[in-house]
Amino acid sequence: MTADFDIVIIGSGMGGLVCADILSREGYKVCVLEKNRQIGGSLQTYVRDRVIFDSGVHYLGGLGEGQNLYQVFKYLDIIGRLKLQKMDEDVFDKIIIENDDKEYVYAQGYENFIQHLLKDFPNEEKALRIYCDKIKDVCSRFPLYNLRSGGDINEKTPVLEIDAQAYIASITNNKKLQAVLAGNNTLYAGQGGKTPLYVHAMILNSYIESSWKCIDGGSAISKFMAQNIRKHGGEIRRNTEVKKIVVNDGKVTSVELMDGSHIRAKNFISNMHPVRTLDMTETDIIKPAYRSRVKELENTVSSFIVNVVFNKDSFPYLKHNYYYHKEGQVWNMPDYTEQNWPLGYALFFSASSRSDVYAESMTILAYMKFDDVKQWAGTFNTVSNENDRGSDYEFFKKQKAELLIELVEEKFPGLRKHIKSYYTATPLSYRDYIGNYDGSMYGIAKDFHNPLKTFISPRTKLPNLYLTGQNLNLHGVLGAAMSGLVTCIAFMGNETVIEKIRNA
Ligand SMILES: Cc1cc2nc3c(=O)[nH]c(=O)nc-3n(C[C@H](O)[C@H](O)[C@H](O)COP(=O)(O)OP(=O)(O)OC[C@H]3O[C@@H](n4cnc5c(N)ncnc54)[C@H](O)[C@@H]3O)c2cc1C
Repeated sequence: MTADFDIVIIGSGMGGLVCADILSREGYKVCVLEKNRQIGGSLQTYVRDRVIFDSGVHYLGGLGEGQNLYQVFKYLDIIGRLKLQKMDEDVFDKIIIENDDKEYVYAQGYENFIQHLLKDFPNEEKALRIYCDKIKDVCSRFPLYNLRSGGDINEKTPVLEIDAQAYIASITNNKKLQAVLAGNNTLYAGQGGKTPLYVHAMILNSYIESSWKCIDGGSAISKFMAQNIRKHGGEIRRNTEVKKIVVNDGKVTSVELMDGSHIRAKNFISNMHPVRTLDMTETDIIKPAYRSRVKELENTVSSFIVNVVFNKDSFPYLKHNYYYHKEGQVWNMPDYTEQNWPLGYALFFSASSRSDVYAESMTILAYMKFDDVKQWAGTFNTVSNENDRGSDYEFFKKQKAELLIELVEEKFPGLRKHIKSYYTATPLSYRDYIGNYDGSMYGIAKDFHNPLKTFISPRTKLPNLYLTGQNLNLHGVLGAAMSGLVTCIAFMGNETVIEKIRNA
């Protein structure tokens, strides 16, 4: 049987598209299969009340000239085309804490970051400098993150096992500063006693280096990559869900689609969650021990989202985000109970080309466990029955949304009078749009106790099946882009692409 393609990529999330873009540039005939109508996975946007909402790109780091994501986007010919807005240099994130009227400021650039925090913590200069040096040191140990080839596992091993919470507590006794330094840990679903410092460091560093919003939504990233892929002879098939990965004689020969048809290729890359990929792949070559090891890995928590549409020219557009947490809870936010939910929230204003004086919309994000919506797990969002999960589900969402808005209103008194309408998303929305099992925001949770266990290799036991996406090494647009690089390097057997990106 002849193969239709050199490479079939299952899923058009950031990792899948980066692989497709790079490999089609390298001359491979690629085909991306995406189950949804819209490509991009968490890069997808949607429109409500004529306003664009992002599903998973509220802001980006590392897009300053020469920085890591900038170089990747430059190589992929995205950088000049993407409408970007730099967030306020002197404040990209504000940390706010229950029972404290202050707004603690994260500024862009390390010295600026230190100087702004010194205003609230004048006696903590030594701690802040040690902290920033450590963040930079940790990041410097990951070659790919710095677009360097080679590298030695011994370089990073010493930092993989550092506990983020304990490290922050070790540099200062000031509890408030400890809480502030962990304040935006919703960015990586931080969990005390679990999250490694390297995750905190790599995410935070990219935003301290520079912070950006995509004007009119992040789906432009996937749009431009799709154009590149087609220009290089690749195909993207939307509304095409893979049901099964078919193995014959020790390797994958085709994927079976929902309609029973098959697409054959020489190689396959899955951008789906690894557990989903393994469930679809029937073969003894992948041992039960490996399958259960991957299945047992915990996923990061999911989220409840309230997307607010503001009345026209009513609420000011702010070029920074807010992260709120209840006192003493910054590392425990995923462990809320029904009574104390939510223990925190993140607040993002969307950048619109129509105005940068007034906000058109904002997104409020709070953690939500899949169990909270389990009773509706048997209902699915499809094109024909979008959001039709019954009136009790609608009631549940409304109750949660009102609670969350009430909490945000403590920060912005009178907020409600600016709200024209709002729309919600739950772990079920993310489950259905992304195609994982539990709506997890960032995939497999990293753990400093056994860091290597939570790294997923891009290779599988099947010689022509590879994995990519946020579950591999790091999440986020930057992390998933890096995962695409890791997969391409594993597939091509060399690191020349890194040099091309560095020299782009
Ligand atoms: C609420 C939220 C907020 C976020 N905010 C930010 C942010 O501000 N900044 C940032 O950098 N990152 C953010 N992220 C994280 C970032 O968006 C993700 O880490 C990244 O986009 C994930 O990329 P991925 O390659 O893993 O693919 P995914 O986005 O997981 O996409 C996987 C794709 O595979 C497709 N698929 C699944 N199963 C099948 C199948 N059987 N057949 C065909 N296709 C299939 C899916 O439909 C999907 O398109 C956020 C994420 C969430 C959830």
